[in-house]
Amino acid sequence: MDTQITKKTERRNWFRKTKYPTVIAGPCSAETEEQVYETCRAIKAGGKADILRAGIWKPRTRPGTFEGIGIKGLPWMRNMKLETGMPVTVEVAKAGHVEACLEFDIDILWIGARTSVNPFAVQEIAEALRGVEIPVLVKNPINPDLALWLGAVERFERVGIKEIGAIHRGFSNTSEKVFRNRPQWQMAIDFMTKRPELPMICDPSHICGNRHMLQAISQKAVDLNYDGLMIETHRDPDNAWSDAKQQITPEVFTQMITDMVLRHDHEDDDLTQKSLQYLRQDISEIDTDLINLLGQRMKIARQIGEFKKNNNMTILQPRRWEEIMKAGLEKGQANDLSDEFISRLLKAVHDESIDQQEKVMSA
Ligand code: PEP
Ligand code: MN
Repeated sequence: MDTQITKKTERRNWFRKTKYPTVIAGPCSAETEEQVYETCRAIKAGGKADILRAGIWKPRTRPGTFEGIGIKGLPWMRNMKLETGMPVTVEVAKAGHVEACLEFDIDILWIGARTSVNPFAVQEIAEALRGVEIPVLVKNPINPDLALWLGAVERFERVGIKEIGAIHRGFSNTSEKVFRNRPQWQMAIDFMTKRPELPMICDPSHICGNRHMLQAISQKAVDLNYDGLMIETHRDPDNAWSDAKQQITPEVFTQMITDMVLRHDHEDDDLTQKSLQYLRQDISEIDTDLINLLGQRMKIARQIGEFKKNNNMTILQPRRWEEIMKAGLEKGQANDLSDEFISRLLKAVHDESIDQQEKVMSA
C-alpha cells in the first residue's frame, strides 16, 4: 500500500515539483517573433511561471480565421527555451506536428480539446511518439465524456509515454452564458479519482473565455488541489490574433498568481488530519442518514407504484412533479443551497423514483 502511494506521488511529481501548482503561461498563438519574445521575456521577468506555451497550429472552429503561424514559430519557442531556461510546450494535432516539435526540441506536447475527441487522431499522434521520451498533456475532449478523455491518455501510455498529465479546459455548451466552456468540475474530479497518479492542470482561460473570471477559476482549481494552471498570456491581449478576450498581459498574470492563496493538501500532516477527522465523521454520519432516508423514500415510491398500477394511473404526474420542485427550491434557498444543485438533486431522485415505480408496474 505504502509503496504504491509513493510510486503514485513520484509519477505525479514529474510535473508538480513543489507543494504549489506548476504554472504554464504564454500566448494562445505564436504570431510574430517579437510578440513571442516580448511576451515570454515579460513572463520570465515576473518569476511566476514554470513553463512557456504557444499554439503553433491552431484548430479553429470556422475557416478564414488565423490558423497558426506554423513551423516558422518553432525556432522562436526554442530560442525562448534557451534564453529563459524554461521548458516550452506546444499543441500537436497530427503526426507531422510531432515530428516538427521533436526537431525543434520542444519539451512538452499537449493535445487540444478538438483532437482528444477523435480516437483516430490521438492514435496517429501516439504512433508518432512510439519510443520517444517526451511528456504529453491531454486536454479534456470538447464534450463531457470521461471515457474519451481517459481513453486518449491510455493511447499514449500504450506507446510507452511515461510522463502524462491531464488538462481541464471545460466542455462546450450552447446554453451557458457565464462560461465559454462549462467547467463541470465533477468530470475533472472523476478523472482524478480514477487516475490519482496523473497531474491535473486547469486551463481557466478556455473555461472562462474572458478576463474577469480568471482569478476566481484559478483559485478554485488551486483549492481543489490541482497540480497546475495553464494561462493564456499576451503582450497586447486586445490585439491578439486568437482568443483576444481571454488573454491577459504578463504583468496582470504575474499579479494574479502573486495574489492567489496557495494551499496544499496537508495529507502527511498528522495534526491537521486529526482536526479534520471530527468534522469528517459528522459528514459521514449525515451521508449515511441521507442514503437511509432515500431508501425509505424509494420504498414509499414503490408503494405508490403499486397503487398507480391497481388504479391504472400514469407514473408521471406533471403537476405533482412541479410542486415537488417548487417546494424543494424554496427549502433549498432557506438552507443556502443553490437552485442549480437542488434542481439536479431532485431530478436524480425523481429519475430513480420513476425507475423503481416502473419496475413495480411491469412486474
Ligand atoms: C489553446 O490552448 O489555445 C486551445 C486551442 O485550447 P483548446 O484545445 O482547449 O480549445
Ligand atoms: Mn486559445
